[in-house]
Amino acid sequence: MALTGLDIFKKLPKTNCGECGVPTCMAFAMKLASRQAEIDACPYVSDDVKAELSEASAPPVRKVTIGAGDYSFNIGEETVLFRHEKTFVNPAVFGVVIEDSADEATIVAKAKAAQGIEFERIEQKLRPHVVGVKAVSGSAEKFAEVVDKVVANTRLPLVLMAEDAAVLKGAVEKVKANRPLIYAADANNFSALAALAKEAGLPLAVKGATLEELADVSDKVTAAGVKDIVLAPPADGAAESLKDLVQIRRAALKQKFKPFGFPTITFTDGGDADMALATAGIQMMKYGGLIMLNELDPARIMPLVVLGQNIYTDPQKPMQMSQGIYPIGDPKEDSPVMITTNFSLTYFIVSGEIEASRVPTWLLVMDVEGLSVLTAWAAGKFVPEKIAQFIGKSEIAGKVKHQNLVIPGYVAQISGELEEEMQGWKITVGPREAGDLPHYLKSWSPN
Ligand code: SF4
Repeated sequence: MALTGLDIFKKLPKTNCGECGVPTCMAFAMKLASRQAEIDACPYVSDDVKAELSEASAPPVRKVTIGAGDYSFNIGEETVLFRHEKTFVNPAVFGVVIEDSADEATIVAKAKAAQGIEFERIEQKLRPHVVGVKAVSGSAEKFAEVVDKVVANTRLPLVLMAEDAAVLKGAVEKVKANRPLIYAADANNFSALAALAKEAGLPLAVKGATLEELADVSDKVTAAGVKDIVLAPPADGAAESLKDLVQIRRAALKQKFKPFGFPTITFTDGGDADMALATAGIQMMKYGGLIMLNELDPARIMPLVVLGQNIYTDPQKPMQMSQGIYPIGDPKEDSPVMITTNFSLTYFIVSGEIEASRVPTWLLVMDVEGLSVLTAWAAGKFVPEKIAQFIGKSEIAGKVKHQNLVIPGYVAQISGELEEEMQGWKITVGPREAGDLPHYLKSWSPN
């Protein structure tokens, strides 16, 4: 069972020296208990206590870093089964598999696509994170040659996929500085692959024909000295894969079953491209870590990254847009000026309806800490005085030749007071529902 703040406090020096960055040992203990601090921040605990507290405060799913530098990423480190219990820590990520038997044009095209695909949504850049190179040819030279080609066309971290340590060795030597994941040790080859991963200091994926065998290989690889392990559940296919992933996560969190205390790598083989996407989506929701696809079609990837973005945000912090002026559809000086709040869902609904109207519009987005219009008004954050201050600083007056501001229909009650606050501006009440915006904007006039 995890230690409480009080349990941890009893083991600290209790001198309240403040060198750990917080004023008291009790405050530090509370931070440790909530995993907001590392025990190494206190220079005065003994090695024994350090080891005990590190063990007790380690997340039940180990964090594993893949890649080095700008494109590196973490998987694992999770502490809860459900997002609303606290938050998920590291998002599930996805990548593409390239077989070393593919022709050169395919290898280059897939590697370039993995590097080039990027979507920007709610001010985050969303993209594939990894490229897997799979040894199908059985030739170490061919495998290393294809790894070279992939590296020449993408800076994303690699998953080196082969069962024979002799095939992997040359490629591992070439790219180990970029911390690839080696895939995968099984019941037959674990000894050789564990030695290879340990010597190179790389993470190692393990697999088994059943969950029992997977746990057994995980144990053996741990005993061989590999710390960073990624689990490859036996099943592919949506339903079976989901069952395996749930069992692994539950065993790690609820039973503290050490062999399953690692993040996962999954594949989406079997079925057509739509089925692969559906499988990836299910794995993204529960509890995939690294999800490997055979193709990266931007039109199919888009819903996957949006799904991931919605799941792997902190439920205690609403998703927010930056405060500012958002021109939609090349607005001019006689275009409508509307205001809304910076709750991302509100922004997307309102901006979507404005786009649908085809009426170029200036949309002012005001920072109210990510609350919706009515909630922000009730909380005193979207009120006449603050709106007037925001408009005054926004520089919208220099972009339009009229002074007509459209406010959301849900806060019609503030229109009079806002007009008094904003000398010279006419306040117009827009529709309550965003769905009525296209009709409203088509008949809007500044006068
Ligand atoms: Fe206490 Fe250690 Fe922090 Fe000093 S550095 S306040 S002894 S926990």
